[in-house]
Amino acid sequence: MPDAQIPLEPESGAPPQRVAIRNIGCKLNLYESEALRAGFHEAGFDVVDFADEADIYVVNTCTVTGAGDADSRRAVRQATRAGSNALVVATGCYAQRRPEELTDAGAGLIVANGDKAQLVQAVTQRLSGQQETDLTPRGRPKTETFLQIGGLVAGGRTRGTLQIQDGCDEHCTYCIIPQVRGVSVSRPAAQILSQAKRMVDGGYVELCLTGVHTGSFGHDQQQPDGLVDLLEALDQIDGLQRIRLNSIEPNFVTDALIDFASTSSHLCRHFHIPLQSGDNDVLRRMGRRYDRQHYADRIQRLAVAAPGACIGADVMVGFPGETEAQFQNTYDLLDGLPMAYLHAFSYSLREGTPAQRLPDHAPRQVKSARARRLIEWSQQRRLTFHEGFVGEQVEVLIEEARRADGSGLATGTTDNYIRVLIEDGGSLHQPQVRPHQLLNVVIDRAREDVTFASVLAPTPDPSLLAIEFPVTSQAIADSMELSQ
Ligand code: SF4
Repeated sequence: MPDAQIPLEPESGAPPQRVAIRNIGCKLNLYESEALRAGFHEAGFDVVDFADEADIYVVNTCTVTGAGDADSRRAVRQATRAGSNALVVATGCYAQRRPEELTDAGAGLIVANGDKAQLVQAVTQRLSGQQETDLTPRGRPKTETFLQIGGLVAGGRTRGTLQIQDGCDEHCTYCIIPQVRGVSVSRPAAQILSQAKRMVDGGYVELCLTGVHTGSFGHDQQQPDGLVDLLEALDQIDGLQRIRLNSIEPNFVTDALIDFASTSSHLCRHFHIPLQSGDNDVLRRMGRRYDRQHYADRIQRLAVAAPGACIGADVMVGFPGETEAQFQNTYDLLDGLPMAYLHAFSYSLREGTPAQRLPDHAPRQVKSARARRLIEWSQQRRLTFHEGFVGEQVEVLIEEARRADGSGLATGTTDNYIRVLIEDGGSLHQPQVRPHQLLNVVIDRAREDVTFASVLAPTPDPSLLAIEFPVTSQAIADSMELSQ
C-alpha cells in the first residue's frame, strides 16, 4: 500500500497562488492538514494564514459532535466571505458525511476523506481549467492511502505528527467516526519508519503518533503487539528525542505497552486514555468493551510504570439514560485515580448511530451541569499536577521563542505535557532559545493552564543572535491547548 504521492507542479510562469488551510477537530485531522500544507508548499503555492486573503481556502472539517459540524460550516462561510473569487475546498469527516451542507455553505469543491491525497492535484486542475478528477464522497470511505510528510513542514508546528493508522472497528454506539473514516487499517511500518527518519532529518525532535484508533495498530495484520514493535523501532531512530502517543483506548493499554513505558527513554510520559463513563451499565450501552475496574487497573499500572506521567481522559456526560447516580460513579472513579486532567464532552446526538434510538436523552441543562462539574474538577487536578513540579528541573521542547531583549519569552512543552512559559526577565545572561531546541528549565510557579519557568543552565549560541522568533498571541493560546 503506497504512501500517497502528491503530484504537483504549477504551470510554469504562473504567479504563485495563495492557499489558506483551516483545521478543525482531532490530531489526525491536524496531521492531514500539515501534510496538505507541505503538499501545497512543494507545489509552489504560498501558504498563508486563514485570516489572510487567499486564492484558495481549504477547510479540513470535523463531525464528531454537532459543534464540529457548526465550526466546519462557519469556517466555510468565513472563507466564502473573505475571498469572493476564491476557491473554497472542504474535506474531512463532515465533508464525507454531509457534503451538500458544505456546498450550501459555499464550498466550491468537496474532497472525500479517502481522497485527500489528491486534493492538491484537484485544486491545480481546477485552477488551470483541466479535466478534474471527481473526488466527491460516495459510499463507504476508503482508508487505503496515507498522506505523507517528507521533512520539516514550512510554517507548521514544532511538534511533528505522524499518522500510523486510520479508521476504527469498535462501533461505539454514539460514534459516527467509523462511518466517515472506514474500517481500521494500519499504515505499513516501513512507511512510518521511513517518514519518521525524514521528519527527524528535517528537524523534528518530537513526533506524535496519531490515528483514529492508534492502539489498534497491527491488529488488522494479526499483530496484536504491533504498536509496541513499532515503538521499539522508532526508539532506535537517531535524533528522535521524543515519541508521543495520541489517545489509546483502555483495552489497548497492554502489559507490553506499560512495560515499554517503564523502560523507554523516548516515550513521553503522557497518556490520554478515554474513559467516557465510569459506570458499567453506561459503558455497556455505549458499546465500550471494558469496565471501570479494568480502566482503574490500567491507569494505576501506568502511573507506577511511568512516575510523573500526565494521564488524561475523555469523558462523555449525558449519554441517553445516564442517571445522576451513574454520573456520580464516573466522578468518583476519576477522583480516586491519579489523573492529571480530563476533557469533558456533552453527549451529542449523531444521526445514524445506535444511540440515537435509545430512550431518555438528557436535557441540555443536565448535560451542561455535569460537564461543568467535571471541568472544574479537571482544572483543580491540573493545577495540583502542575504545582507538584514547582522547584523541579524539567526539559522543555521550545515551540515559540524570541531573543532575550528585555521582554523575551519562550513557550514549550515537557514530555509529560506541562505547558511552560520561560521568562528571561531581560537578563543578558540568559541563553538564546529557538524552536525545536530542548532546554532545561526550573519551574518557578504554576497556574492551572500553564507554568512559568526560568532557564537552568545558560548555553548561549552566538550563531542565533541575529534570529528573531515572534511570540504570537496564537502561540500563547496554543500553549494553553489543555484548556477546556
Ligand atoms: S473507539 Fe469508539 S469512540 Fe473512538 S473512533 Fe472508534 S467508535 Fe468512535
